[in-house]
Amino acid sequence: MQEQTAFQVSGDAARELSAEIAGRSEQPIASCYQCRRCAAGCPVGEATGYLTPDRLIRMVLLGDRKMALNNDLVWRCLSCYTCGTRCPNGIHTSRVTETLKQMAREERLEPLHPKTDSFHRSFVKTSLFWGRMNEVGLMAAYQARVLWSCLKRRDFREMRSEISSQTRFGLSLFRLGRLHPGWTVSRGRRELGRLAAKSGRHSR
Ligand code: SF4
Ligand code: SF4
Repeated sequence: MQEQTAFQVSGDAARELSAEIAGRSEQPIASCYQCRRCAAGCPVGEATGYLTPDRLIRMVLLGDRKMALNNDLVWRCLSCYTCGTRCPNGIHTSRVTETLKQMAREERLEPLHPKTDSFHRSFVKTSLFWGRMNEVGLMAAYQARVLWSCLKRRDFREMRSEISSQTRFGLSLFRLGRLHPGWTVSRGRRELGRLAAKSGRHSR
């Protein structure tokens, strides 16, 4: 039986992109009828220049691949799930933004917010390695990526500023007791790895 949709996509590019995103994110994006309930609750609406979840979904349905793969909402989405809990059609835009981020990497697009990209990659890698959040490991991995990027660009001023601001930040976290040194590996590490592998398969 053909899927019921609220929005009829037309054109090969639109059909192709919509099917790819709907399949990989497992979200019924074609049911979006642009009610904008998601937009009303999105905490990053202002920071993205009002590129709200409804607009991102519309972009995908219209087949605007270039814009959909690299825009502010893809890189600023907090995965807070507010849009998904408000959506009458159960569309979780955070899963769409994650899928678009993954696709942008596969197509080797320069991320719009390189530091966010570095943080995201470092978070995933260290969490999978330790099986849990390891703040010191995360900060070290993130710093290594950012500093390497500065070095490649020979941007020594940015490098100095990064080292000084991150050192201050690290010390303030330590004083507040929010930075926990320690290298215990979680017993659930393997399970986390299995979940990540499974989600990787789904996102391909
Ligand atoms: S709340 Fe759901 S149906 Fe409404 S605009 Fe947002 S994604 Fe579309
Ligand atoms: S999950 Fe992302 S897109 Fe959805 S409301 Fe939160 S920040 Fe906005």
